[in-house]
Amino acid sequence: MPYRKLRDTNLARLAETRFDALVLGGGINGAGSAAALAARGAKVGLIDKGDFASVTSQQSSNLAWGGIKYLETYEFGLVRKLCRARNKLIRSYPSTVQEIRFTMSHEKGFRHGRWILILGAWLYWVIGSFFTRRPRLLSVADIEREEPIVETRGLDGGFEYSDSYLHDNDARFVWGFIRSALDRGCAAANYVEAIGSTREGSEWVTRARDMMSGKEFFVRSRTLINACGPYADQVNARDQVQTAHRHVFSKGIHILVDRSSSRGSRPTSGCSPSSPTTGGSSSSSPWPARPASAPPTRGSTGPRWRSRPMIAASCWRTSTSGCACRSR
Ligand SMILES: Cc1cc2nc3c(=O)[nH]c(=O)nc-3n(C[C@H](O)[C@H](O)[C@H](O)COP(=O)(O)OP(=O)(O)OC[C@H]3O[C@@H](n4cnc5c(N)ncnc54)[C@H](O)[C@@H]3O)c2cc1C
Repeated sequence: MPYRKLRDTNLARLAETRFDALVLGGGINGAGSAAALAARGAKVGLIDKGDFASVTSQQSSNLAWGGIKYLETYEFGLVRKLCRARNKLIRSYPSTVQEIRFTMSHEKGFRHGRWILILGAWLYWVIGSFFTRRPRLLSVADIEREEPIVETRGLDGGFEYSDSYLHDNDARFVWGFIRSALDRGCAAANYVEAIGSTREGSEWVTRARDMMSGKEFFVRSRTLINACGPYADQVNARDQVQTAHRHVFSKGIHILVDRSSSRGSRPTSGCSPSSPTTGGSSSSSPWPARPASAPPTRGSTGPRWRSRPMIAASCWRTSTSGCACRSR
């Protein structure tokens, strides 16, 4: 079978070549790094212990956003950086990354008044270089007319603003980068686990295990890119690599709902004093039904994946890798 042949060829190349860079992990950060390096002429190898994009990068909300929620903590520099990255993604991948409109409702008694939030949406638009459609103020009547599925009791209005989303889906987006890296000569193979890397003189020697055959081999590279997502710190600890930053797992709630609204396609968010996210905002994204998983939560000993059909607790902010849209 052709894919079998490609994998065998790439396994042989992984064992024989001295790479400029070996990337561990084929999520968005590993795939993006491999594609960028290969496009610049570097000799790149990439291995993943599972399917490409099989961990965090297939469990996202499919958003390439500008970080509106960081306005609340006055992280304007970060929001600017994220907005610029979002705009670049929309420009670079017009058929894949597209603008999406959010409807935000505001309940009386929320910790910020409605006007503060609306001003925040305008500020977000300005920080984002006016790249998307401008925010729009909504009365309760507007919400009832335009999104009849939203419960308007207790609301005093809302607004609409734009971000962008991955039109296909996150895993396909990742695969696009792997494909592009392969096209530029990268030797990529999945079901190959890195089981230990050591520094020998001027190069890294990584012991790898082909998880289909059980065979072990060594991969040599001048640099090693650890893009193992939630496993990155474990891999660093095992390879005795010290880093300035570590992952901090946190918990958020993403509620994916079936597309049931008559108009139906728009994610809606609510700012409510009684929101399940401790008085913060909550959002629901109309989505074709699919399972979602929960990454590790604070206090867990390692990644454990639970299948839950509708609600995903998210590992949302990490100090090293951050969101997919931040990686480029
Ligand atoms: C519910 C949820 C919603 C999210 N929504 C968004 C969003 O809308 N927009 C956004 O930008 N971000 C979002 N994020 C964050 C985003 O998904 C992550 O920041 C991103 O996917 C991290 O990618 P990664 O490549 O670093 O890690 P991962 O995708 O986890 O990839 C790591 C890879 O490393 C491999 N690996 C691990 N150990 C080894 C080893 N020893 N040898 C070989 N391979 C190994 C794994 O198999 C895996 O494929 C969301 C996250 C969650 C959980």
